[in-house]
Amino acid sequence: MEEQLRKSDTLSVVGQLAAGIAHEIRNPMTALKGFIQLLQGSIGNDCEQHNMYFHVIMSELKRIESIITEFLVLAKPQAVHYERGDVAKIMQETVDLLSVQATMHNIQIEATYEPVPPIYCDSKQLKQVFINILKNAIEVMPKGGTITVSVAHVAEGVRISVRDEGSGIPKDKIKKLGEPFYTTKERGTGLGLMVSYKIIEEHQGRIDVESEVGVGTTFYITLPIDNDMR
Ligand code: ADP
Ligand code: MG
Repeated sequence: MEEQLRKSDTLSVVGQLAAGIAHEIRNPMTALKGFIQLLQGSIGNDCEQHNMYFHVIMSELKRIESIITEFLVLAKPQAVHYERGDVAKIMQETVDLLSVQATMHNIQIEATYEPVPPIYCDSKQLKQVFINILKNAIEVMPKGGTITVSVAHVAEGVRISVRDEGSGIPKDKIKKLGEPFYTTKERGTGLGLMVSYKIIEEHQGRIDVESEVGVGTTFYITLPIDNDMR
C-alpha cells in the first residue's frame, strides 16, 4: 500500500517534470517552424532537392509537435474543465473537422446522432478522443470505404460507436491498445489511444473494442450520464 502510494507520488513528479519540459520544447519548435517556412519562401520553389528537404523537415517537426501535444494531454490535469455538454454535438463537430481528410482518402463518414441527455464533460478532451479514434479509422483504410459513426442514448448512458472497414486487430493485440508507445505504424506515436483511454476513464466511462481481422474494427465509448464531475 505504502509502496504503491510512493510509486504514484514519483509518477506525478515525473509527469509534472515531463509536462514542463514538453512546454519548453514547444516554444522553440514554433519558432523553428516559422523560420523554416520563411527560409523556404526566400529560397523559392525552383530546386526540387531543396523542396524535398523542406518537406522532410516540416513533417518531422510536425511529428515532434504531435508527440508533445499528446504527451501534454496526459500530464496536464489542471486544465480540465467540466461542464454540461452535448456529446452528439461534440462528435458532429469532430466529424466535420475530419471530413476533408476523409474525403481525400476516399472515405465517407456516415453518422447518425440520436438526441442524448447532456453530461458533465470536458468537451475539448472528448473531442481529442473522437479525433484520435476517427484518425485511426481513416489511417487503417488506405483504399477508402465507409466509417460508420453513431451517438445513441442507452441504458448505461451515452454510447458512441466508430466502425471502420480496415484491417482489423488480431485478438492477442487488442489488450495492447492503450499501452504507451504501442504502435504498428511506421510513423505512429502509440500515444493516441493511451491518452483516449485516460480521458474516458477520467469521465468514468469505458472503451470497448470489437474487431475482426480483414473485416474491420468498432470502438465503443460509453459515458455515464450521472457522473461525479459536476
Ligand atoms: P498510433 O495511431 O500512433 O499508432 P494509437 O494509440 O492511436 O497510436 O493506436 C495504437 C495502435 O492501435 C495502432 O498503431 C494500431 O495498431 C492499433 N489500432 C488503433 N485503432 C485501430 C483501428 N481502427 N483498426 C486497426 N488497428 C487499430
Ligand atoms: Mg492514432
